[in-house]
Amino acid sequence: ELGPQGEALALFGVFQDCTQELEERTQLRQLSSIIESTCEGVVITDASGELTWCNRGFCLMTGYAVDELRGRRPGRIFRGPGTCLDTVREMNQHIARGEPYTCELLNYRKNGHPYWVRMSLHPIRSADGEVQGYFAIESDITQMRQVMEDMRTEIFRREQLEGELRALATEDSLSRLSNRRGFFEQAEEAIRQAREHGSPLCLGIVDIDHFKETNDTYGHQGGDAVIRHLGELMKELFRERDVLGRIGGEEFALLLPMTDLEGAKTLMGRFQELLRTRALSHDGAGLAVRCSIGLGELGSEETLTGLLSRADDALYAAKRAGRDRIEIARADVIELPPARGRKRSR
Ligand code: GH3
Ligand code: MG
Ligand code: MG
Repeated sequence: ELGPQGEALALFGVFQDCTQELEERTQLRQLSSIIESTCEGVVITDASGELTWCNRGFCLMTGYAVDELRGRRPGRIFRGPGTCLDTVREMNQHIARGEPYTCELLNYRKNGHPYWVRMSLHPIRSADGEVQGYFAIESDITQMRQVMEDMRTEIFRREQLEGELRALATEDSLSRLSNRRGFFEQAEEAIRQAREHGSPLCLGIVDIDHFKETNDTYGHQGGDAVIRHLGELMKELFRERDVLGRIGGEEFALLLPMTDLEGAKTLMGRFQELLRTRALSHDGAGLAVRCSIGLGELGSEETLTGLLSRADDALYAAKRAGRDRIEIARADVIELPPARGRKRSR
C-alpha cells in the first residue's frame, strides 16, 4: 500500500505451497533421464504417426540421429524385405482403433543391416480421451531369436538322432526287418493284444535252405544279398500288423496276429511261391533260394518262448523231411495241475 507521495505504507504478498509441484518436477526430471538412458528404444509420434522424439537407445539401435528421424514416419524408414506385412497391417488396424499393440518385426538399420525388434505400441490420450499421438518401446531381440532358432534346430536334430538310434536298436540293418530284440518286444505286445481280444495268432520260423552253399558259391556278399532279398519280399507280402524279424543269421520269425493256422499256412505257402517266382538276380542269372518253415498257433496258456520252441521243432522236422516245405508244430500240450487230495505221480 502506497502513501500520498508514493511511499510504501504496507506490504502484502501471496504465499503458495509449491512443494508438490517441485516434487513432481523432480520426478519428471528423473523419469526423463531414465527414458533417455535406457538401452530400450523409446519413440514418440504425433497423432498422424510422424516422429516427434526418440531416446538415445533408439538412435543406437537404428543408427539414425534424432534430427534425421524427426517429422518422418517410423513405419516407412525401418521396413524392408522380409518384414511381415500381415503384422504391419494388424498393427495399423490397432492404431486406427487407438488400441495398444505388441509384436515382433524385422527392421533395418541405417547401414542396411536387418535386426529383429519387439515393439510395444501405445496411444497417448488427452484428459478427454482424444488420441494425441503414440509411444513405442522397442527392444532389439535379434540375438535372442538367433539363440531360440539355434535351439530349435538342435532339438530337431537331436529328436531325429534319437529316432535313428531307437530304430538302430530294434532294426536289423541288413534285412530292414526287426532285429531279435525288436521282434521280441513287438511279439510280446502282439501276444498280449491277442489274449485281450481272444483272437488267434500264429508264428512261423523261416530258415534258408543250404545257405552255407550260397555263401560258398557267391561269397558272403552274395549271401547278404539273399538275406536282403528275403527281407524285401517279406515286407512286400506280409501285412502292416505282422511282426517280421531276423532273429538269427539266416533265420526269420514271422508273427501273424488275427490269423489261424489255416490262414497262416496259406500265407507261408504264398511266401515260398514268391521266393520261387521272384528269384534274386546275380551276375545276370537267377539265384534260386528256398526255405523251410516251422509253423505253430499260440496255445491258450502258451508263452512266446513256448511257441517259438514248438515252431523251431517243426522247422527241423521240415529240414529232415527234405526242406523247401512247411511243417506244422505239434499241438501245445497244457499241463493240468494235479487233482486235489491226490499225489502227483512221478
Ligand atoms: P540248412 O538247410 O540245414 O539250413 O543248411 P544251411 O546251410 O542253411 O545251414 P545253417 O542254417 O546251419 O547255416 C547257416 C549259415 O548262414 C552259416 C553262416 O555262415 C551263414 N550266415 C549266418 N549269418 C549270415 C549273414 O549275416 N550273412 C551271410 N552271408 N551268411 C550268414
Ligand atoms: Mg539256420
Ligand atoms: Mg539254413
